Amino acid sequence: MKKLVIASNNPGKLREFQQMLAPLGIEVLTQSQLGIGEAEEPHCTFVENALAKARHVSRESGLPALADDSGICVEALGGAPGVQSARYAGDSPKSDARNNEKLLREMQGVTDRSAHYYCVLVLVRSADDPQPLIAEGEWHGEVFREERGAGGFGYDPMFWLPQFGKTAAELTHEEKHAISHRGKAMKSLLQKLRPRSGA
Ligand code: IMP
Repeated sequence: MKKLVIASNNPGKLREFQQMLAPLGIEVLTQSQLGIGEAEEPHCTFVENALAKARHVSRESGLPALADDSGICVEALGGAPGVQSARYAGDSPKSDARNNEKLLREMQGVTDRSAHYYCVLVLVRSADDPQPLIAEGEWHGEVFREERGAGGFGYDPMFWLPQFGKTAAELTHEEKHAISHRGKAMKSLLQKLRPRSGA
C-alpha cells in the first residue's frame, strides 16, 4: 500500500495520523485535499460510523482509506457524549470550545469523574472490501474541573490523567501517542496489516 486517504476533516486527528504514519513510507492524503465531502455518520456505534466514513472516502477516491471514529465516554453521564462527542454542543458549526464548556457544565457537582476515550480505526483497501481491517483502543482517565494545557485537541484540556498529574493537553505528542486510544488502535492496526501485506 503506497497511498492512503485519511477519512477525516478533523485537524487534530489529521495531525496525529500524519505523526503516527510518517515513519511508514506511505503517502498520506486527506479527504479535503481530494475535494471529498463528509460522509453521513448516522449510526449509534463507533464501528459502524468508521466503516461508513472509510467506504465513502475509498469510493470517492478509488484509494485505500483509513477512518477513525472516536469520542469520550463519561461514566456518570451514561457513556455520553460517546458517538456524539464531535457535536455534543451542536453541529453548526462543531466546536471543541463549546463541547468542553457543555461537558464542564454537565459535570458540575458530579463526584464520579471517570471517563474513557474510545477509538476504532477501519482500513479498507476498496469501497467494497469484504475484509476491512478493524482495530480499537481505549484510554482511561477523569474529567477535570477546568481546562488546562495547550496540546492535543478536543476534550484533551479536560481529560485528567491522575498517574501523570496532567491533562492530556499537557502531554507531548510522543507521550500521548504511546498511551492514547488512537495510539493503541494504530499499533494494533499495524500489527494486523503486516501479515496481510506480506511484510
Ligand atoms: P468523530 O470525528 O465523529 O469521530 O468525533 C471525534 C470527536 O471525539 C472529536 O471531535 C473530539 O471531540 C473527540 N475526540 C476523539 N479523540 C480525541 C482525542 O484524542 N482528544 C480529544 N478529543 C477527542
